[in-house]
Amino acid sequence: MTRLTERCDVIIAGAGPAGLASALFLLDRRPTLAGRVIALEKAHHPRPKVCAGGLIPKAIATLDELGIDVDVPAVRVTAGSARTEIGTVDIPRGEVLCTIVRRDQFDASLAAAARRAGLRIVEDCRVDEVDEVEEGGGGVRVIGTRGIFEAPLLIGADGSGSRVRRALFDERRGQLGHGLMIDIPVDAQTSPEFRDHCYRFDFNCVAAGVRGYAWSFPCLVDGRPHLNVGVYDQFTDGRAPTRLMIEELRNAFPQIKIPSEPRRFRSFPIRWFDGGQRFSTRHAMLAGDAAGVDPLMGEGISYAFEHGRLVAAAALRYLDGDCGALADYDRVLHRGALGRKLSRLAFAARRFYGPRHRFYFRLAHLSAKAQQIGVDWYNGAYNLDEVPARRLIARWARAVLMREPVR
Ligand SMILES: Cc1cc2nc3c(=O)[nH]c(=O)nc-3n(C[C@H](O)[C@H](O)[C@H](O)COP(=O)(O)OP(=O)(O)OC[C@H]3O[C@@H](n4cnc5c(N)ncnc54)[C@H](O)[C@@H]3O)c2cc1C
Repeated sequence: MTRLTERCDVIIAGAGPAGLASALFLLDRRPTLAGRVIALEKAHHPRPKVCAGGLIPKAIATLDELGIDVDVPAVRVTAGSARTEIGTVDIPRGEVLCTIVRRDQFDASLAAAARRAGLRIVEDCRVDEVDEVEEGGGGVRVIGTRGIFEAPLLIGADGSGSRVRRALFDERRGQLGHGLMIDIPVDAQTSPEFRDHCYRFDFNCVAAGVRGYAWSFPCLVDGRPHLNVGVYDQFTDGRAPTRLMIEELRNAFPQIKIPSEPRRFRSFPIRWFDGGQRFSTRHAMLAGDAAGVDPLMGEGISYAFEHGRLVAAAALRYLDGDCGALADYDRVLHRGALGRKLSRLAFAARRFYGPRHRFYFRLAHLSAKAQQIGVDWYNGAYNLDEVPARRLIARWARAVLMREPVR
């Protein structure tokens, strides 16, 4: 049977945060593209997604910038703690550190906003084949389970196992981490996470061979209080055995009733940033997990949004005939503020999860002020993550040595 070929201006593979943010930025900057941008999504919103659903302030700021009110149940966290082999670091109570949502609800709400802005989402359509074509001005041809689609430009936002990436880019497995998690019902009156509006991290598993950390986040499942608990390991190849990860999770939070059977947990890969790779070809760009996100904590939603912003800017230039736009996207991802932040997180992951982890945890324990700046930098508060390294170090030094206020 011959299938009809549909043509549009931009094809987006995957309608998760990266694909939807790309569409939202594109349609915000150029509303005339309404109906001309198509997202191909293999699932159907609301779709399940293995994720703790923690949105750092930077992600919330991006939603505000786009004027999007994602009206879904959420728990806001204003304090936290991180246990390491050296001791516990308390993140002082103050501003919102994290907004915890359920990904099925959050992504569905984001998809509805993108639809209202003019994105066409073809659901239950898995991208199977991708080719770049040079005839007729050049572009891409995508074969999906629900049709054939052609456009001058493709955004690969189809997650850690990206089909676009495998088809058009070098496939590197070394940069795959993974997380496993479970939701545990709790009594909000007695759970410290709910009572104190806090999240908890535990890095003790590093000493046991897991290159990552355990977390406990308060969240609402069907309106009922739960803790989302899980473990992140930065590597999938030569990964820590699942049983060890679960054991370390149970050791980290002995007061929570965490089961030991692996089948009770859900797990998913997280691709992290590797500065040695390409992020664009002649007619395609990667965004979100498909490109690679935070190697240290496995946080990816804020990066998916930032990729979306940069992808959209490059896409508009490309559609206007600027052939260098996609190469510039690649350059910005390597050398711009986002690439620099991800490179620093990769640097930190090599230190904290490497053989000398104890020394680096000890260093991190030295100054509460330096810790505060680190948390603000991580969360993108006060745009600290965009400040050049020299200014950041100077600020750090003034806060630590000259007792200048952190904020
Ligand atoms: C256990 C765990 C906990 C996490 N916790 C957090 C957290 O608290 N905070 C945070 O910021 N990040 C967290 N992350 C990371 C976060 O989930 C990802 O970084 C984020 O989802 C990336 O968004 P994305 O749009 O790039 O990819 P995804 O959210 O994976 O979206 C990709 C979309 O593409 C679709 N797709 C895939 N293949 C195809 C195909 N061939 N054709 C068509 N469609 C396709 C998928 O169905 C999906 O809808 C966690 C990850 C894990 C595994």
